[in-house]
Amino acid sequence: MQTNNIAVIGGGAAGLTAAISAAMHGADVTVYEGGERCGKKILMTGNGRCNLTNTNAAPEHYHGGNVSFMNDTISAFWVDETLEFFADMGLITKEEEDGRVYPYVNQAAAVLDILRLRLDALGVKTVTAFEVQSVRKSKDGFIITAYDKKQAKAGKVIIATGGKAAPQTGSKGGGYDILKSLGHTITKTRPSLVQIKTEPDIVRKLKGIKADAKVSIDGHSEKGEVLFTDYGLSGIAVFSITAYLTNQKTISLDLMSGISEDTLYEMLCMRAAQNPNITFENFLVGMVNKRIGQVILKQIGIEPLSRRAATLTDSDIKKLARIIKNWQFKIEGTMSWNNAQVTKGGALTTEFNPKTMESRLESGVYAAGEVLDIDGDCGGYNLQWAWSSGYIAGKSAAGK
Ligand SMILES: Cc1cc2nc3c(=O)[nH]c(=O)nc-3n(C[C@H](O)[C@H](O)[C@H](O)COP(=O)(O)OP(=O)(O)OC[C@H]3O[C@@H](n4cnc5c(N)ncnc54)[C@H](O)[C@@H]3O)c2cc1C
Repeated sequence: MQTNNIAVIGGGAAGLTAAISAAMHGADVTVYEGGERCGKKILMTGNGRCNLTNTNAAPEHYHGGNVSFMNDTISAFWVDETLEFFADMGLITKEEEDGRVYPYVNQAAAVLDILRLRLDALGVKTVTAFEVQSVRKSKDGFIITAYDKKQAKAGKVIIATGGKAAPQTGSKGGGYDILKSLGHTITKTRPSLVQIKTEPDIVRKLKGIKADAKVSIDGHSEKGEVLFTDYGLSGIAVFSITAYLTNQKTISLDLMSGISEDTLYEMLCMRAAQNPNITFENFLVGMVNKRIGQVILKQIGIEPLSRRAATLTDSDIKKLARIIKNWQFKIEGTMSWNNAQVTKGGALTTEFNPKTMESRLESGVYAAGEVLDIDGDCGGYNLQWAWSSGYIAGKSAAGK
């Protein structure tokens, strides 16, 4: 067994990029992947289309204990370099709304195929069904041991095992144990880009209904689709806002974000004056979804639905304008790791050199991708972090 080689642990976005980068820079590289095949998660990204980056990628779209860790990554290998990297391998991409970049063929499989072809061309070895349990320092490098006791040796090791999100794709958090055993600190982890569980009473009545809304948590807002479910709230705007979720207790929806509460109040007064005989059942039709309208009227005690608009008081109309603009739901948590797209938290970045991704605690150990305490917003930001940190880790490991 050689010890002047590089072992990449985890064959996801970060690991495959690290392997290509290390091989491009002259190293002998082996990828050890726990699953039966590499890149399973890549195939699921962007609803099967792979939103591989975002032209707006900048630190304000990322979260973690120390986001400034990314500054060196951004200057060394960021969106332009990533697009060039993929273009060199033959992937044609296109930019869509909000800077989101996809493969021109709209297939995540194309991204994975392109990476695999380059790995083969560079002679990178891939060992699948090798789920690493431990990495131990030896006299001339590292001994890598799998759960089934198979062993391998390497001169340097790149940990690219992802976090805990979507464990069905292989990322089950094993990388954290490996890094902990090497002395690293793992910050508290929790699911992000995930559905929110709320008090069920209201949402359950609206199960399956979609609405466009501005969703807010503690001063952060996202506009887009919200889907009501029997456990809480889903939809792209809700997914996106969870990137900002810490310990907040409420999430609020603005169902008419284009107009102010005062204007809405005047519109509602006029509506009631012009249609005094309309029942509450239909009072909000044409303004918000009919069923949502009925549910919010009932929630603020404006009932029964057979009552007529003429009976609305000024205080009723004020309450109605208020709830349409600021409909609050008590947060009871998030859905599980199985539903999450990304992990918040991870390996403490201050324990790594941001220029190389090498551990400051154990020379020859590198980390890249979601295993580190950096997570991005929804929209291509997480894969960008995986490609960039992977590329830098691979290049640095090959270079020393
Ligand atoms: C449904 C879904 C859709 C998404 N869509 C997008 C999107 O469109 N755009 C975007 O930017 N981001 C998206 N993301 C997030 C993005 O996919 C991840 O942030 C990114 O893939 C992380 O890359 P990674 O290589 O760090 O980890 P992973 O992709 O999780 O790869 C880690 C790999 O390591 C392997 N592994 C784990 N432990 C071990 C071990 N002990 N030994 C050996 N191998 C191990 C795993 O099997 C896995 O193959 C999405 C995520 C999900 C779940």
